[in-house]
Amino acid sequence: MRPDEQRRSASALRTRTPIISIATGAIGGGALALALLLGAEPSATGMPAHGSARLVNPPAQVEESYGDEAAAALASALDSGLAADDEEKSLQVRTLAVGRGDTLMGVLVKAGAERAQAYAAIQALRAVQNPRRLKPGQEITLTFEADADGAPRLVDVSLDADVERRVVARLSGEGDYKAESIDKPLERDALGAAGMIDDSLYNAAQSAGVPAQVIVSLIRLYSFDVDFQRDIQPGDRFELMYEVLRDETGAVVKSQEILYAKLTAGSKTLSLYRFRHEDGETGYYNEKGESVRKALMKTPVDGARLSSNYGLRKHPILGYTKMHRGIDFAAPQGTPIMAAGDGRIEEAGWNGGYGRYVRIRHNSEFKTAYAHLSRIAKGIRDGARVSQGEIIGYVGSTGRSTGPHLHYEVLRRERQINPIGLKLPTGRKLSGRERLAFQTAKEALDAHYASVLQPTERLVRSE
Ligand SMILES: [Zn+2]
Repeated sequence: MRPDEQRRSASALRTRTPIISIATGAIGGGALALALLLGAEPSATGMPAHGSARLVNPPAQVEESYGDEAAAALASALDSGLAADDEEKSLQVRTLAVGRGDTLMGVLVKAGAERAQAYAAIQALRAVQNPRRLKPGQEITLTFEADADGAPRLVDVSLDADVERRVVARLSGEGDYKAESIDKPLERDALGAAGMIDDSLYNAAQSAGVPAQVIVSLIRLYSFDVDFQRDIQPGDRFELMYEVLRDETGAVVKSQEILYAKLTAGSKTLSLYRFRHEDGETGYYNEKGESVRKALMKTPVDGARLSSNYGLRKHPILGYTKMHRGIDFAAPQGTPIMAAGDGRIEEAGWNGGYGRYVRIRHNSEFKTAYAHLSRIAKGIRDGARVSQGEIIGYVGSTGRSTGPHLHYEVLRRERQINPIGLKLPTGRKLSGRERLAFQTAKEALDAHYASVLQPTERLVRSE
């Protein structure tokens, strides 16, 4: 099957009418299971389809063996739940989409289930899934059979628990419902994106179709080396490849880790590669095998604009010239603030002109402080451990402040220092056998990235 054919067949499955599909008649376990599997479609997961994904590495063939296996599992489970003479009975499959504010009970009753049966099925599902976590648009598939007196009897209910799992509650021979969780057949793949930066890396990546959570990880990875205010200029470029999971129709249901990225900022080119160490841990390294992770991040807020530098300035409120012992990042009220490095909270609370304030002790030499916060994050209190990139609070304008911004200080041996230009020790550097393994992994990622780009992008790239 050619990739485009595969796309088409995938979208054909997706256009199935979401509200109700009813199949009546005596159908075998296999067909029933197939109907159930079709219910497990991506739109039901609440994950956005990957709109303008720039490249699509044709997913390897949709793994039919997986499908068969799952279908067989469902079929045999179904068979075991039905008495032998049920083959003669008529089964009815209904698929309903959850509406805003719907409860599982509400949906089941609306589909025609008797209250007591719906209640019992939901009780069973609780063992494998929190039935309160329904999303609007999510699909629920029910199977009914006609009772001796013609009343519909609920024989099973199935729905996606998340992108990786489907749960089913099934009427057993003893007349109660038993629930089980079935892993969906998902396949790993990689997506690539590239683009030119007009104003911010965030906006450029977003218009290239990169999901928000991948962009946030990208900014975090670069925040060790890049000051997003000073270093990024219009015309700069980025390249990115990240891991995704696809379902059996080939649709992307989940975005995972970044595998490779390259940022060209002015004359600087910063590449990073994900590398898995022998112990299974992963890290990000530049092309020379040096860890991109450093003791402190340069920018503790995503996408912030530097509004005031370290040094002498006329104080905006006090009026007289005063030494500004930190740097100010202008950012909208509520923008998350990250811990610049691993450490322990030394102070978290109100601190005079600083307003809501957090200070972290990183080691015997360095501390960082964050002021004017609108809110301190949950769990951030004296003595708490934090890790680099963890959200410690939100931008605000508390204390002596003229508008929402983060006042950020780096303290070295108890004294504020200018963090711009501060040379921080780099992290781990790969050597010996690991360096060789990294080189192989790096070349594989480079080749993979080149293969996931579309021809037009390759042209742009080689200009
Ligand atoms: Zn300040």
